[in-house]
Amino acid sequence: VGMNVQDLSKLLHRDTAEIIKKLFLLGIVTNQNQSLDEDTIEILAADYGIEAKQKEEEDLADIDRFFDDAAVNEENLEPRAPVVTIMGHVDHGKTTLLDYLRKTNVTAGEAGGITQHIGAYQARLDGRLITFLDTPGHAAFTEMRARGANITDITVLVVAADDGVQPQTIEAINHAKAAGTPIIVAVNKIDKEGANPDQVINQLMAYDLVPEEYGGSTIFVKISAKMGQNVDQLLEMILLEADVLELKADPTVPARGSVIEARLDKGRGPVSTVLVQQGTLHVGDPVVVGNTYGRIRTMQNENGQDIKEAKPATPVQITGLNEVPSAGDRFVVMADEKSARAAGEERAKRAREEVRNSSSVVTLDTLFNTMAEKAMKSVPVVVKADVQGSVEALVGSLKKIEVDGVKVDVVHAAVGAINESDVSLAEASGALIIGFNVRPTPFAKNQAQADKIDMRFYSVIYDAIDDVTAAMKGKLEPVY
Ligand code: GDP
Repeated sequence: VGMNVQDLSKLLHRDTAEIIKKLFLLGIVTNQNQSLDEDTIEILAADYGIEAKQKEEEDLADIDRFFDDAAVNEENLEPRAPVVTIMGHVDHGKTTLLDYLRKTNVTAGEAGGITQHIGAYQARLDGRLITFLDTPGHAAFTEMRARGANITDITVLVVAADDGVQPQTIEAINHAKAAGTPIIVAVNKIDKEGANPDQVINQLMAYDLVPEEYGGSTIFVKISAKMGQNVDQLLEMILLEADVLELKADPTVPARGSVIEARLDKGRGPVSTVLVQQGTLHVGDPVVVGNTYGRIRTMQNENGQDIKEAKPATPVQITGLNEVPSAGDRFVVMADEKSARAAGEERAKRAREEVRNSSSVVTLDTLFNTMAEKAMKSVPVVVKADVQGSVEALVGSLKKIEVDGVKVDVVHAAVGAINESDVSLAEASGALIIGFNVRPTPFAKNQAQADKIDMRFYSVIYDAIDDVTAAMKGKLEPVY
């Protein structure tokens, strides 16, 4: 960029005479109209304590860069509410717990609010807020994670005390572990006859969820979601965990966050619930959301009340987008509508191109190259088999594989057909799926095809081990 002494003096808020004098002392003789080269500008700017880094061509469409830690100012960080997902086996009481919390602790009640399902809400305890995602279950959780939105800070694992650890309990544990979120265990239904909370605690120790009294660090709370017993204690524990995590956000930057859910409303157009993760979102803000864009027209909280701004960890329902984004898409507020539009259109274009030549998923056929390209330290695998004995045998043998220091990482292993949850976990973890004497459900099969997840089926353990080892060595015979 060409710049003369006069331009530079304006930029640095200094007298031209002063600049000329400084340059003279550096051995450079100039007048005020003389253009300066980059090095001179840099030396001079450095002298004034300014980094004169030439602004790199910003990639407008790369909104992920706004999610780097560096994108916020340490000094402006303020504590924010934790974001909690409730997971657990079907019928163990997730919905009952969410409903109870909503009824009793939601910030509603405040003048004419009618609670609406927008995909998330905030509950309050002792003046502190907790944000709950109210689509229970790990499918939604992992789908969002697969799109890059790691919005959950804490997982509450609900386990019914009269039923104990069940297959989806284990799935939920593995999903939470894969996402790296701490788990708080809510042992539910303690009001029921035949409830055995201690049995649940014993069972969970096998999954590294060990209470403090046994030397572990997992928080267990015995509750009755139906009666509301100890639910406040659960909230307290969530806040305690949040304190440990030191959750903070910068409310001063342009807002950014993730889409929780979205749909097309006949009257209002695309309606989405977003969670603000940094900054403060305002009505009127120009935004890029996933592969679309718009300007925030209206903003409502979970009580259907119109609000003008939303701070970090607040879920809000927004209108004003051009298209319906997907759950897990990220959003970023841009400087103006023009750049929002440009970024949105560019992202849509790139997404189309990516679909055309997508091959970023891990498959056995390409494993060897992918391992090298991505410098993989381990090969993630999801294992499903017909009986527990086969699961254990397969996992045991897979864990023994080691090729040039690279090992197999079994992200999840269980008995049963390959289901949608397995496929979304595989997608989120970049894993391949090995089925031993099992098949996928029709839904899982469709989803795997759409997501290009590699599923392999075996009936001889040795064949599975052999294929994985060969693939890691780049010696897998292609199947035609
Ligand atoms: P979800 O599938 O995990 O969402 O489970 P639900 O919340 O739908 O609960 C399943 C059943 O368990 C319902 O009939 C609830 O009324 C019942 N339930 C949930 N929590 C409790 C509890 O604390 N005590 C008792 N006795 N029943 C409960």
